[in-house]
Amino acid sequence: MEIFRCPSCQQTLWEPVTLACGHTFCKKCLKVANRCHICKQRLKLRGGQELRGNTLLSSLLDKCLDMGTKVKRITRDLEDLISVRQYEEAVKVACKGVAMAPEHVPLRILRSQVYLCLKQFSESLREAKVICDLQPQNPEAYYRKGIALLHMEKKEEALKEFQRCLALNPHFTTAHLGTEQILKNLSCSLPSSLEDFVDEVFSMSRRSTVDTTALLAPLEAANIRSQDCGTVNKINEDKTISPLVQPSDGTSIALNQEKRKRKEMDDPTPPDKERPHSQENWEHHKDCYPPIPLLKDVLSLSDVECSLCIRMFFEPVTTPCGHTFCRECLERCMDHRPYCPLCKQCLREYLRVGSYPITAILQDLMMTIFPSEMADRKQIHLTEIAEMSNLVSNVPIFVCTVAFPGVPCPLHVFEPRYRLMMRRCLETGTKSFGMCLYESGKSFSDYGCMLEIQHLEFLPDGRSLVETVGRRRFRVLQRGLLDGYHKAEIEYLVDKKLEGEELQEVQRLHDMVYQQLEECFSHHMAFTHYASPPPKEDDIQASPDGPHWCWWLLSVLPLDPTYQMLILSMTSLKERLFHLKHILSVFLQNRS
Ligand SMILES: [Zn+2]
Ligand SMILES: [Zn+2]
Ligand SMILES: [Zn+2]
Ligand SMILES: [Zn+2]
Repeated sequence: MEIFRCPSCQQTLWEPVTLACGHTFCKKCLKVANRCHICKQRLKLRGGQELRGNTLLSSLLDKCLDMGTKVKRITRDLEDLISVRQYEEAVKVACKGVAMAPEHVPLRILRSQVYLCLKQFSESLREAKVICDLQPQNPEAYYRKGIALLHMEKKEEALKEFQRCLALNPHFTTAHLGTEQILKNLSCSLPSSLEDFVDEVFSMSRRSTVDTTALLAPLEAANIRSQDCGTVNKINEDKTISPLVQPSDGTSIALNQEKRKRKEMDDPTPPDKERPHSQENWEHHKDCYPPIPLLKDVLSLSDVECSLCIRMFFEPVTTPCGHTFCRECLERCMDHRPYCPLCKQCLREYLRVGSYPITAILQDLMMTIFPSEMADRKQIHLTEIAEMSNLVSNVPIFVCTVAFPGVPCPLHVFEPRYRLMMRRCLETGTKSFGMCLYESGKSFSDYGCMLEIQHLEFLPDGRSLVETVGRRRFRVLQRGLLDGYHKAEIEYLVDKKLEGEELQEVQRLHDMVYQQLEECFSHHMAFTHYASPPPKEDDIQASPDGPHWCWWLLSVLPLDPTYQMLILSMTSLKERLFHLKHILSVFLQNRS
């Protein structure tokens, strides 16, 4: 399976960049695209923003690709840069390549060429000398030396090098051109010492033109090597001229004009179209993808470890700055600050968009190379989720206010620990958490009420507005902490069941207090902004928490939270009604 394949160029990924949609391409392939090749999502790059490489994938590729593939890719990049005359960038790539493979002649030839284009002639010459040492039979090496010397105005030395080149390959057209040009310029004022040399040169070139068989055999071998990597001189039947090296301004040396003239005659392709590799050459360059068994040997679990949780990635996501984390780990970091935990780049925009698609290629890679570890990692996650879903032994506790059964409780969530809690409530699917009041000495009250999330709206900065409604009351049995927030083991409260005479007595009390409420409602200022109280229920014991209107009344009255909490904790409806009766009497007295 071709794990590291770029979906755009179909080659092995090179300088991989992961987009916001989670798909990964070569950086170069994205330079000419404005949409993701797979999901068609638009590439969003704000003014001058650079595409940042996926650092994790880059290092994985570095480990997995063999030297041949790497050098091939560097050579290809280099040729492209030269063809668009981005020499400054090209020299960087060339140096990187040479550092990686110091004895790779085609790379050195390209570097020599780039130096020449940058008018760094002595660097170009030095490079050419290294090539001569590495491959004394390669005519290109002497040609490179010659052309550098020529630009340094060392015409005689240049001439010698061109002739050495021609001795090795009499069909090396550009060396012929160089020779002719130098001889033409020198002929009028030829120093006597040179006369012999020129003669010798001519006889030498004649000799080699006549008798080439002995020389050609090793040359063709050298030439194939250099073609392999898409470089420069071809010795073909059609005598295609190699790309001519021109100084960047193209005017300084007469020879170049001459060369261009000659080249135009020989080769109709316009200079910019002439590239060292054509489409057919690409076929030549077909990458071999690293085979899976090899990947298994090369990669270890520590290569796919999240730097935040130090575990194998779970749902890996890649930030715009190119760093990869488990989705939850990154979200938890951004609960505190919208910056990358590794490079500190601002991720406010990333947070604002709020979707973190998984880095697909990494997920595929882990699935292929570490299937059992992936299964284990998933199992751990599922176990954690199951534990967090247990709304008796592991209830997340929001410490804030007193909530009541059936009564809405809107919340503004901004603390990092509660952002995490809300996400987990959604992820586990429980959509529920306990609400308790702060109590000094024990972090939160002994009693509370479950809240169920009805609607949650994430704000661009990660805060959220949460609409909840109260469900059942509970008593705290044991307190704990989980990732910064409180949790508790609880038992749910149930009102004592009444029967017979006792039930009738409480029913009468209930009806009386409700009547009191209605009276209060119609007269007292405190209630004027409420439409109407909730209706009376037929069965006062239908819910384990008793009639809903009692809780509603408690929530709207301006009471001390500790007192509200006291009533919340009662499991006797009778007792609760007595308290409400007392409160309402006070209100009614105040009116009169
Ligand atoms: Zn690509
Ligand atoms: Zn995509
Ligand atoms: Zn992690
Ligand atoms: Zn980063």
